[in-house]
Amino acid sequence: MLSDTHGRTATDLRVSLTDRCNLRCTYCMPEEGLAWLAKSEVLTDDEIVELVRIAVTRLGITDVRFTGGEPLLRPGLVGIVARVAELAPRPRISLTTNGIGLARTAPALRAAGLDRVNVSLDTLRPEVFKALTRRNRLPDVLAGLAAARAAGLTPVKVNAVLMPGLNDDEAPDLLAWALDHDYELRFIEQMPLDAQHGWRRDGMITASDVLASLRTRFTLEPAGDGDRGSAPAERWLVNGGPQRVGVIGSVTRPFCAACDRTRLTADGQVRTCLFAREETDLRAALRAGHGPQRTEEEIVRLWRRAMRGKAPGSGLDAPSFRQPDRPMSAIGG
Ligand code: SAM
Ligand code: SF4
Repeated sequence: MLSDTHGRTATDLRVSLTDRCNLRCTYCMPEEGLAWLAKSEVLTDDEIVELVRIAVTRLGITDVRFTGGEPLLRPGLVGIVARVAELAPRPRISLTTNGIGLARTAPALRAAGLDRVNVSLDTLRPEVFKALTRRNRLPDVLAGLAAARAAGLTPVKVNAVLMPGLNDDEAPDLLAWALDHDYELRFIEQMPLDAQHGWRRDGMITASDVLASLRTRFTLEPAGDGDRGSAPAERWLVNGGPQRVGVIGSVTRPFCAACDRTRLTADGQVRTCLFAREETDLRAALRAGHGPQRTEEEIVRLWRRAMRGKAPGSGLDAPSFRQPDRPMSAIGG
């Protein structure tokens, strides 16, 4: 098991497959992109599958989510999913993507064993999409979403971030659209994880703002799924249900006490939190050439040790808070 000293156990592994992306969302990346990892630094498909195997068979991981950067840019994605789906015990496998290219790959991903998908979409207005992502790809995302649903990657979840002055008036329209298409919408508060360090607490759209905006058009009542458990989203029944909307108040309503996550970056570093400043190098252990048995034991030891050092919270509210050096796209959101 991956247990920390604050009573939490990680069962949910987020694996970043690449730090590269074909969008440039303003809350994530600068217009010119970033200095990408060199190919030799990025874990190979075999290395990723090996680390996931160890996590699943030795460390109690039950859920694996592939993310990035944009995971659909990874050529070996379908093969990686297929190999992870063959592990015993088989983990649940999901993908967080911007949806570009999903229209083509959704059936193959489903056939390989992908269970679910989260597609990030912040606006339905083409000109706002272009301003937010600096690319004109809204039709590709909408096609990807439809293909995911058709392929049975359900429930299809949609993640939206609201940005002041861009799409902060769009929450009710997004919800009406999501209800219409049977997508499960979740709003996520903007976090200080952009490479440009442009986040301002006094400028951000909070969970309360989102709820107030939605209530101008819908009735919302707590979905009654008890406390949030380890799920970060507070879920609400819309107009009496059964459809729901989620709001993830990562900044104003943090869920750190119930966090069940551990993260692996595309270059093989374990991070215990999005906001961690420390990383544990599993790639070096993998590549040290110690033979399979010793390598596996070393990785188990390193991962457990990293987990024991997991901080109780994000530290966002501490005066000493400093944004991590890696931006969201390089950590894996
Ligand atoms: N490229 C894929 C995508 O956009 O879904 C996967 C990686 S992306 C980093 C994962 C999620 O993080 C997306 O839903 C995105 O909206 C969210 N995200 C990125 N930067 C963020 C920030 N500063 N605050 C909150 N969410 C952010
Ligand atoms: Fe790319 Fe996802 Fe970051 Fe947008 S949020 S720039 S799609 S990695």
